Amino acid sequence: MNKRRFKIALAGNPNSGKTTIFNHLTGTRQKVGNWPGVTVEKKVGDIEKFGSLLKIIDLPGTYSLTPFSIEEIVARDFILEENPDVVIDIIDASNLERSLYLANQLRELDCKVIFALNMADLARSRGYKIDKERLSELLGVPVVFTVGNKGQGIEDLLKVAIEHAESGQDIPETRKVRYSKDIEHAISDLRLVIEEKSGPEFPYNRRWTAVKLLEDDSIIKKRLEQILGHDSRELLERAQQLRSRLAELFKEEPEIVLTDERYGFIAGIVKEVVTTSTRRRIDVSRNVDLVLTNRFLGFPIFIFFIWAMFQVTFTLGAYPMAWFEAGIAWFSSGLGAVLPAGVLRDFLLNGVIAGVGSVIVFLPNILLLFFCIALFEDTGYMARAAFLMDRIMHLIGLHGKSFIPMLMGFGCNVPAIMAARTLESRKDRILTVLITPFMSCSARLPVYIVLAGTFFAANAGTVIFMLYVTGIFVAILTGRLFRSFLLSGEDAHFVMELPPYRIPMVKSLVIHMWDRAKMFLKKMGGVILVGSVVIWVLSAYPKNIDYSVDYDARIDQARQYYTEKIASATPGKAEELSEMRAQEIKELVRSRQVEHAEKSYLGRIGRVVSPVFEPVGIDWRGSVALLTGFVAKEVVVSTMGVLYAVEGDTESDALRRALRNSGMTPAAALAMMVFVLLYIPCLAAVTAIARETGSMKWPLLSVGYTTAVAWLAAFAVYQGGQFF
Ligand code: GDP
Ligand code: MG
Repeated sequence: MNKRRFKIALAGNPNSGKTTIFNHLTGTRQKVGNWPGVTVEKKVGDIEKFGSLLKIIDLPGTYSLTPFSIEEIVARDFILEENPDVVIDIIDASNLERSLYLANQLRELDCKVIFALNMADLARSRGYKIDKERLSELLGVPVVFTVGNKGQGIEDLLKVAIEHAESGQDIPETRKVRYSKDIEHAISDLRLVIEEKSGPEFPYNRRWTAVKLLEDDSIIKKRLEQILGHDSRELLERAQQLRSRLAELFKEEPEIVLTDERYGFIAGIVKEVVTTSTRRRIDVSRNVDLVLTNRFLGFPIFIFFIWAMFQVTFTLGAYPMAWFEAGIAWFSSGLGAVLPAGVLRDFLLNGVIAGVGSVIVFLPNILLLFFCIALFEDTGYMARAAFLMDRIMHLIGLHGKSFIPMLMGFGCNVPAIMAARTLESRKDRILTVLITPFMSCSARLPVYIVLAGTFFAANAGTVIFMLYVTGIFVAILTGRLFRSFLLSGEDAHFVMELPPYRIPMVKSLVIHMWDRAKMFLKKMGGVILVGSVVIWVLSAYPKNIDYSVDYDARIDQARQYYTEKIASATPGKAEELSEMRAQEIKELVRSRQVEHAEKSYLGRIGRVVSPVFEPVGIDWRGSVALLTGFVAKEVVVSTMGVLYAVEGDTESDALRRALRNSGMTPAAALAMMVFVLLYIPCLAAVTAIARETGSMKWPLLSVGYTTAVAWLAAFAVYQGGQFF
């Protein structure tokens, strides 16, 4: 039997619980991608329920369907062009009035819509009682209560959605928003023209099209030109006339009048359906906010949270990291034992495992970091952080809202750069995009953990925290500078929204971490594997090298010399001598390796670039590692893993010991970390900058500027460190 198929879209305000409900419905059966042509995330899941095949789509969160932001355009286009069988509007029941704006715009479209009154628990605890039957009757839309994070009512919601999709019943015209007389006249007037010009397959609701024309909706105007061709001229002209007439009448742009009237309609509905109990429970969120966004306490608490986040990442992450390291060491030595000596063994042990292995051990740290960021986001603290940073952000002429992309940058700069598109002004967007790469992303963390762990053992957490703070500081200075010289403009005025605090849902946190883990592992199998192999090839070849010393002969000599002495020594002395023999041979092997590396292709590249890095205390191996970091910053560590790898040393702390023996000083290590913090954003981030700013000018500026700043800062750190 053929199963029925339905396309169900989830719409709603940001933070209304769309993704929570989406996750609940689709579980692991979801595909994450982008909407065509833009970089807004698109989540789709295919499930089978009640004997139907359902395609569920999580639309971007929006407050409205006016085409002002990319999210709104994407959501509206989907509904207009893809004709979902039913749209579920997820409404934050604790914030009904605000949510109904979007709800009403959906009703004005010709789509089947049902309402999920989500956050029913919050609404109740705040003392709101919503009469859902009345709401459903007034608006002609089925209504279901849900509590997304507990999975309540979701089954029911889906059932109602399917029934509604099948029912073939539209919202009665009489239930739609009625505008005031003059506007309704203008709508009817335009509608007549539309009816006259459009054929039977005209894709949009005609009343709605008339409303959009009165609002001067540029996208709809363009579509009409495409659909109606020549015929659109007269229609658009008529719309323009009506607009000017209304503007004269109301002394206001028609779109503002329409918006006002919609709000009036909504206020009326809210009065009808919501009763507030007199003894309202104390609003927990407001009390928490008294402390967390307090003028004096707020900032120290914020700094404490961030500091705690890095402590957790580093201290707690150290345990699973040690298990990973031990596992990899065990695997590597096991493999070394069974494989015959030769190129293959060399390739696997010193290329693949030394490279990929040295980065993969950081998976737990990175997951913990993302866990903390997701926690900030899901509890609602992120918005408070942005609120707190508002004053500081105004120093650089940006709004606190710009801080959210910056904070997200701690996870990964690429989505953070994309997050900047929620800012209204283009200059603000570009400025935010340019300073975001100074926020230290999780890919840089492995570099810090290796270097800080090696050279600042006990204080590693604090050193790392200071690096992050330095990043923020440089970002702010840069913002100030660019604001003054390149992107001068007005401060944007905008009211910050503070969503209520919520207990985060474990499922959503886990899904978030799992997504990150997948991305990280993909990167391991891709860029980092390829990078490690290339680095290994460059460091292992050419094979026949002109050594300054004949190491083989020297090793033979040493062996012979000690063996003879041992033969004629007392037992105690013999043991000591055998120890010395092992030591000397090891020393010779290492010298040969160092010389080999220096004379390899990679060494030659290193010699070319190392003069640049000499003043900041970084040797040729570090220089090469930094160079390769452009691909992805984790590659810095995998390159070090390959370059400093000591043959035959498969102990888990091999890289750390090798670094300590390499002559690197703490000052140089710090300089290198600062350099990694500040220099070129990785390839993916540069690409994102180009895409978001729409020109090559900004990514090029970013690459040049960040690298110059990085070098100067590292120079200052290293030279300053010489005085201690
Ligand atoms: P989206 O922006 O619409 O995708 O919203 P999310 O699905 O990310 O949800 C935002 C937050 O609200 C998350 O922390 C959820 O755990 C929480 N949440 C979702 N539904 C409910 C609900 O019914 N009640 C409560 N108290 N919290 C919810
Ligand atoms: Mg979401």
